[in-house]
Amino acid sequence: MKKIEQRAILCCVLALVLALGLGVFLARYLVRGGSWVSSPFNRHLYNTSGQLAVGTVLDRDGDVLSGVENGQRTYYDNATVRKATLHAVGDLQGNIGTGALNAFADKLTGYNLLNGAFGAAQGGELYLTIDARYNYEAYEALNGHAGTVAVYNYKTGEILCMVSAPSYDPLNVPEDIETNPRYEGAYLNRFLSSTFTPGSIFKTVTLTAALEKIPDLDSRTWTCEGSVQIGDETIVCSGTHGQQNIGDAFANSCNVVFAQLAQELGASTMKQYTDKAGLTDSYSVDGLPTAKGSFAWEGITDGQLGWAGVGQGQDQVNPCAMMCYMGAIANGGKAAKPYLIEKTVSPLGLPSLPRLNGKTSQLIASDTAEILAEMMAQNVQKTYGTGRFPNMDICAKSGTAEVGEGKTPHAWFTGFLRNEDAPYAFVVLVENGGGGSSVAGTVAGKVLDVIVNGY
Ligand SMILES: [Zn+2]
Repeated sequence: MKKIEQRAILCCVLALVLALGLGVFLARYLVRGGSWVSSPFNRHLYNTSGQLAVGTVLDRDGDVLSGVENGQRTYYDNATVRKATLHAVGDLQGNIGTGALNAFADKLTGYNLLNGAFGAAQGGELYLTIDARYNYEAYEALNGHAGTVAVYNYKTGEILCMVSAPSYDPLNVPEDIETNPRYEGAYLNRFLSSTFTPGSIFKTVTLTAALEKIPDLDSRTWTCEGSVQIGDETIVCSGTHGQQNIGDAFANSCNVVFAQLAQELGASTMKQYTDKAGLTDSYSVDGLPTAKGSFAWEGITDGQLGWAGVGQGQDQVNPCAMMCYMGAIANGGKAAKPYLIEKTVSPLGLPSLPRLNGKTSQLIASDTAEILAEMMAQNVQKTYGTGRFPNMDICAKSGTAEVGEGKTPHAWFTGFLRNEDAPYAFVVLVENGGGGSSVAGTVAGKVLDVIVNGY
């Protein structure tokens, strides 16, 4: 009797293991099936050069950015558009990790759970949220500089423009791409995958903390004599701003005031507000993870804290995370999470299910956001000039980030529009471009003008 009992138990255990294995396989099949199909081992989906030979990538209004003709991958016929959309569309060698041809290959194969890769002869259609024309304008506006330009709808999450430079023509890959400094980091999508010294755009975070933690901020004044000594560090300013209230100090982007604010707030409060703003988190943009920003608050000296409060020192931010923070300021503290895939259409003509797109966490309290937005609008009126942004209720902050001895600073310009019919947040970075407002502000103005006003 005992022997039979033991055998029954063994059988039960074996059956359980089998069921468990089936369960694991089924779960992995449901989640990973698309990428199994699009794996390069499936030769019928790839041509002899190893290029994905099925599927069409389109922009938001249906311009074909990359298709297939006679088994060969084709691209848009304008070389500048090809360069401007490279980091969204992808290359033929698989070097651009964020490109649709690589990152969203499973959607291009036309694979689905019911039919497998049955429709794969034609492949699916993948509509990106970007507009080829906006990318073209942004790429032209960068004028040969490295950097990134992005604009997104903070109410829906659609990324309308995403450019990273340096770029290159995927149909005519330069022979010296690996050796010419001009192409350094060309494979990298700077918007999603890089971090940079933010300079004064980070003062939006320091100001958020000050608005909430320093009760008499409104009634205070500071005098800027061009620099201030904090601990071992001399914090230099871009000018000699004299006596200022908080609004003037923000519009003047006064380092003297903001370094003292950071010191007064303390490292743990600065860390708390930086983390809350989402700048040390990673976002998932249709599964593509953004680079996390990094800061060195631990064991920081007062002088270093002063520099950190004005976006210098060890501060590093990711452009996409900064753009989301701008969207949150515009949108009552929470912004829609950014995404790149507008929709997919299967070979059988079936559209994808509508997406359930989430919001960010509360990156800033809603009443603080309203005050900050108004102060950012004042920046444009007092300093940058409203005439450069026609028909836009624009709120912005510039940054001119020092990046080392003898190097031209990075130019930043970031912010958002409060227009009801143009709810866009944006970020512009021109590496070693010079003045934030003059250089990056001009790039932002050109791109936003096309998006908001057309021609
Ligand atoms: Zn100053």
